[in-house]
Amino acid sequence: MDVLVLERRAVVGHPAQCGECIPNWGEIVHTFRGLENHEWLIDTFDVPDRIRLHRLDAMRVFLPSGRSYDFSLDAYAGHRAQFDGHLAERAVEAGAELRVGVALQRLHQQRRAGREVLVTSDGGRLTCDHLVDASGALAHVARLRHGTDAACRPSDQVPTVYAQVRGEVPPTFDVFLGSVAPSGYAWIIPKGPDTANVGLGVRAGYLEGRLKDHLERFCSTLGFEILEVGGGWIPMGGPVRRMVDGNALAVGDAAGLVMPSNGGGISQAVISGCFAADAILDHVREGAPLEAYQKRVEWTFGPALRNSLRSKQLGYAFMRNDVLTEGILRMLGPIGGIRRAMECGRPLWVL
Ligand SMILES: Cc1cc2nc3c(=O)[nH]c(=O)nc-3n(C[C@H](O)[C@H](O)[C@H](O)COP(=O)(O)OP(=O)(O)OC[C@H]3O[C@@H](n4cnc5c(N)ncnc54)[C@H](O)[C@@H]3O)c2cc1C
Repeated sequence: MDVLVLERRAVVGHPAQCGECIPNWGEIVHTFRGLENHEWLIDTFDVPDRIRLHRLDAMRVFLPSGRSYDFSLDAYAGHRAQFDGHLAERAVEAGAELRVGVALQRLHQQRRAGREVLVTSDGGRLTCDHLVDASGALAHVARLRHGTDAACRPSDQVPTVYAQVRGEVPPTFDVFLGSVAPSGYAWIIPKGPDTANVGLGVRAGYLEGRLKDHLERFCSTLGFEILEVGGGWIPMGGPVRRMVDGNALAVGDAAGLVMPSNGGGISQAVISGCFAADAILDHVREGAPLEAYQKRVEWTFGPALRNSLRSKQLGYAFMRNDVLTEGILRMLGPIGGIRRAMECGRPLWVL
């Protein structure tokens, strides 16, 4: 297959818009279905050591009072820009052409010729047999084709800011719930002995003022020096209803595959990209329907993402202030309810 990758950034993965917690293969297999023996994915998630900055063996979830519940984790704090760069290098080694600094700007329908032309920021006009929308939370292909049609636009976009900081950082992935991040959470993800990624994700409209100012205050309370700030949107509304639209397949955030209860989406982006490629190859070689892609995504991620969405919705409904958040989490913490929400298990409160 001739594969062309368009990336609007000048450098793949830079700037990283991420907390940079990357799951290990064990965590991925534990969360999603049927991936145990997938050789290509096993190899892909076995990244070079330079990308693994710090082991994340435990998570601590802090309640508004400061009380915390701990559980184990199988992940690492990664160098996200290098992680993305590494994936891009693999694609190029496999024969893909990568054009950086080139954005898809418009899709022009040439009805008489029966084709769609991709108009790019460098003045390019391209056609393709298949189009993979890997453009992230804002799902550009779906937006250009269908505007605000809810069937193919990821929903509940949560604004998120993060900072690379220096200071006395904890060894664990720490999460803070309550008024520090209403209907969301604040995090500290250690990246080394004295550096960390600190962030804040809050349901849109639930925190007055600029999110960046709240993050700066949070960091200053903890005595951290901010080195760099960034941000982005996380689609927390669950999978889109239509992932396959004619010849276009949405993957990763563009398909709404983030885990709504914890905001993690790196592994689903990589895995769904692999599934999309498989579906296109099966279609070209054997005439298999492209819709098989959505079925496979739903089978693999469906149960975990449904649980995760339910946990998030219950959080939205009940954790309305610090008193309620504290009370509910004190009930759920000791019986594993917080861990279940973070790991996309079935929420205890609906069992
Ligand atoms: C602040 C923040 C913290 C996060 N922390 C974590 C975490 O710790 N762990 C985790 O697992 N997940 C985390 N996530 C979620 C995770 O980053 C995403 O789920 C993941 O990056 C999705 O990958 P993707 O390839 O679908 O989209 P993206 O990584 O967003 O990649 C989309 C790419 O498409 C390019 N692009 C967009 N539009 C165009 C266009 N028109 N033309 C050409 N190129 C275009 C962009 O430049 C970008 O490089 C976080 C997200 C945010 C915002």
